[in-house]
Amino acid sequence: MGTDKSKFQNLKNILIRKKIELLNKVNNINKGLMDTNIGDEIDTATNNAERERYFKMIENDKLMLETINTAFDKLNKNIYGRCESCHNTIPMERLQAIPWTRYCIACQIQSEKSHQ
Ligand SMILES: [Zn+2]
Repeated sequence: MGTDKSKFQNLKNILIRKKIELLNKVNNINKGLMDTNIGDEIDTATNNAERERYFKMIENDKLMLETINTAFDKLNKNIYGRCESCHNTIPMERLQAIPWTRYCIACQIQSEKSHQ
């Protein structure tokens, strides 16, 4: 279906921009991590706290990158826009709000409930 591709072109562009943004951010965090290695001995405690903060940030960004890669994968396989859980079509408004979403609203709420 050729129409599907153009339908999602906008969302694909958003995903590409988001991915570049995240890759830059992870790069900067990595640089920051290296900087904290050069600090004074006295600052070790501060550095450790700082490093922990960086690691946490990287962890979240890497998860996000993974989710975005999954979205690209689904675009390539022509299954983008479908919920991974119930396989229903995810409404366009939801995709426009969160182009990397993997689930429809109902399944998202369900999964958040089961994770808590
Ligand atoms: Zn669903």
